[in-house]
Amino acid sequence: MKLEGLHILLTYQCTYECDHCFVWGSPWQKGTLTFERIEQILAQAKEAGVISIYFEGGEPFIYYAVLVKAVHKAANMGFSVGIVSNAYWAISAADADHGHARCERPHELRRARRQAAVVRHLEDVATQWNSGAH
Ligand code: SF4
Repeated sequence: MKLEGLHILLTYQCTYECDHCFVWGSPWQKGTLTFERIEQILAQAKEAGVISIYFEGGEPFIYYAVLVKAVHKAANMGFSVGIVSNAYWAISAADADHGHARCERPHELRRARRQAAVVRHLEDVATQWNSGAH
């Protein structure tokens, strides 16, 4: 069986602590993958013929600096790149929907539009790199 997609759990730390969470994500979890470790994983994924990479957690946007570098790196290597987020940064259902939210907590969607713009920026970066327009 060919491995086509890989989901990288950047961290188990999360802004929520859902009962149904199968990775035990919570604010009490600590730590993230280093960028160096992610580079190693991406290299192995490339070798294995993986096509698409998703960054998730936990909540990957908690470690924004690592996430941005990882998205750039993966896109630069030719992967199709996506992010799975709980959309804690969104202030409307539309913002959350735009970010492809996995977990819905509409009553907690209060974050600034600036953070929703971050998602759009990351998607634009990934699209640009995926289309070869760089
Ligand atoms: S938002 Fe997602 S990752 Fe976070 S605790 Fe809930 S199910 Fe787990």
